[in-house]
Amino acid sequence: MSFADLGLMPELLTALDAVGYTTPTPIQREAIPVVLTGRDLLAAAQTGTGKTAGFTLPLLQRLSTTPVLHPAPKHRVRALVLTPTRELAAQVGESVTEYGQHLNLSSLVIFGGVNINPQRDRLRKRLDILVATPGRLLDHVSQGNIDLGGIEILVLDEADRMLDMGFIRDIKRVLALLPKKRQNLLFSATFAPEIKTFAHSLLDNPAKVEV
Ligand code: AMP
Repeated sequence: MSFADLGLMPELLTALDAVGYTTPTPIQREAIPVVLTGRDLLAAAQTGTGKTAGFTLPLLQRLSTTPVLHPAPKHRVRALVLTPTRELAAQVGESVTEYGQHLNLSSLVIFGGVNINPQRDRLRKRLDILVATPGRLLDHVSQGNIDLGGIEILVLDEADRMLDMGFIRDIKRVLALLPKKRQNLLFSATFAPEIKTFAHSLLDNPAKVEV
């Protein structure tokens, strides 16, 4: 099975060639076709399984091939990826840039512990994909730097860690700002009861993938 068999577009296949991936990992084989259909996804996957490409590749393709769903809020963003840590946010941002190098999409990574002003300036321009840690994202929301009313795809990466780190209230505040009609992808290494409850409240008839 190849990446082309999963239905990925030529621009992504070229980028994958360049990074040297030849064969999709199990999580990629299962997640990519589901995400491409627009369906919600609940995925159990550890770091090291290739989960990042598992959501980044189809996310890039959806944004490239579907029209804007929620037109024209101020400072529109179409896809939001929430991660528990700066390191993970930076990693996801690098994957977005790398895999999306032949697509006309813009992305930004924001996290705390660094000056907020350059992030604010960048948020004023068109942005397709925002990768963020919850606290700094909410700082920008409260400063009026960002409108989340255009989000079409939400990814919660390492959701179990985000709950463990006490981000549940922040995440709920973010969720309340998103349009109802959107695609949700939840990745978690484990499925403790609180993750299951949370996933149930967030996801609409999700496909379930476990590797
Ligand atoms: P992740 O689980 O997303 O943190 O990815 C783990 C590592 O596997 C990263 O260094 C990726 O660059 C790499 N990787 C992801 N997918 C593939 C693939 N299909 N073939 C080879 N390496 C991959």
